[in-house]
Amino acid sequence: MSLEDQIAIITGAGRGIGFTIARKFAQHGAHVVIGELVDERGQEAAEALRAQGYSAQALQLDVTQPASCRAVSEKVMAEYGRIDLLVNNAGLFQLYKSEEMPEESWRLQVDVMLNGVFFMTQAVARTAMIPQKRGVIVNIASIGGMGGWPMRSAYNAAKAGVIVLSEVLATEWAQYHIRVNCVSPGVTRTDMMDSLIKQGAVQLEKYNNRTPLGRVAEPDEIANAVLFLASERASFITGENLRVDGGWVPYANLHALGFPEESSARQEES
Ligand code: NAD
Repeated sequence: MSLEDQIAIITGAGRGIGFTIARKFAQHGAHVVIGELVDERGQEAAEALRAQGYSAQALQLDVTQPASCRAVSEKVMAEYGRIDLLVNNAGLFQLYKSEEMPEESWRLQVDVMLNGVFFMTQAVARTAMIPQKRGVIVNIASIGGMGGWPMRSAYNAAKAGVIVLSEVLATEWAQYHIRVNCVSPGVTRTDMMDSLIKQGAVQLEKYNNRTPLGRVAEPDEIANAVLFLASERASFITGENLRVDGGWVPYANLHALGFPEESSARQEES
């Protein structure tokens, strides 16, 4: 799946899933631009990729600020004359009971993970993809955007919004040959997840047990799905939301009804 000479912007790629996507794209021949709020983190990530022989740079970016999104898009356009790929990955995660959710937390989560996806996408589309009549956008949503999880009202609402936003943009911009898709990861073993585990906020064993495939995802497994959607192999796929969740979402109803034995019964039959 070659991305040879493609110019790719990946937001929030200073660490975690975004960094793994950037490395994967670079391994497949793309020049990657890491758009990162924490500039030092972005610069270190780009340096790490260059040290491995890949083509990478970092630009400071706050996706919640349309001016920042425009500035990054225009800088990349000025340097390369096109932007082929955009991955909207920047995110954050704050747990609150809805009745206790502080206004700032609601606004921040929706701002980064819904408004930010729109502002960055709009900037790249206006600056590059619509004029060049070509482009691929992959938005990182979440299985959280497909159902009710207590304590995650802002996060899940923002991610659900991203899934529908992707469908709208896919239909609006098909005329410009711009494909827009989502990848919805299940629980993924990132630094953020490890720190939640250390704090005792997340019990890994429970997530493993809840997943039909018996474990959480590795960042590389998410990046593989993003690579597929970004590549020509997905040339007729747009408006899709690809779950990469080890079977978590389809298992939801069985679990809620309290039939964990169903999965072992199915295994015995097969
Ligand atoms: P992470 O916290 O490790 O990385 C997110 C990055 O986004 C950070 O480097 C952060 O600085 C950056 N960022 C935050 N706000 C920004 C802004 N305003 N502008 C630009 N960059 C900003 O998170 P992760 O676990 O790698 O998650 C990446 C994406 O995957 C997120 O969208 C997240 O919601 C989604 N996701 C993660 C999981 C999981 O289990 N880790 C599961 C489903 C979906």
